[in-house]
Amino acid sequence: MNTFSCEFSQRLGALHYCEVPAPERKVLEAHIGLCPACAQQMEQLKALTQLFTTSRTAAVPQIILHRFAREVAWAGVLKLARALSCAAAAVLVVSTGWIWYTESADSQSSVPTASLALRTDSSGSSDSNDPVVQALMKEYGRD
Ligand SMILES: [Zn+2]
Repeated sequence: MNTFSCEFSQRLGALHYCEVPAPERKVLEAHIGLCPACAQQMEQLKALTQLFTTSRTAAVPQIILHRFAREVAWAGVLKLARALSCAAAAVLVVSTGWIWYTESADSQSSVPTASLALRTDSSGSSDSNDPVVQALMKEYGRD
């Protein structure tokens, strides 16, 4: 029997790669025991798989393996870059919220505190001659 004329020959590859459900597998295995053409095709599939698994590194040129490894590495780098971009966006959002929160809190509380500190400094201490203190005093309206 010619393998191309056998109705089961189309499913031998799937059987070889364990891609058929158990009931179909039993039917195919029983058929292989009775059909020399399918048995021969299964033997060829096994021999081909054996050839690829035993001589994989010798059969595939190193440049192809190198390119494949580079592609896989780039896929990993791109995945990492996406994750870092998401993390950076999250940090940006949190930082913006924190700055907004502290700015609104500063506009209510820190200016009077600074004024109080400058007022304390301007009451005769030697720090009032400090240019930084003078600039701050000028900024907040204390001369
Ligand atoms: Zn057959």
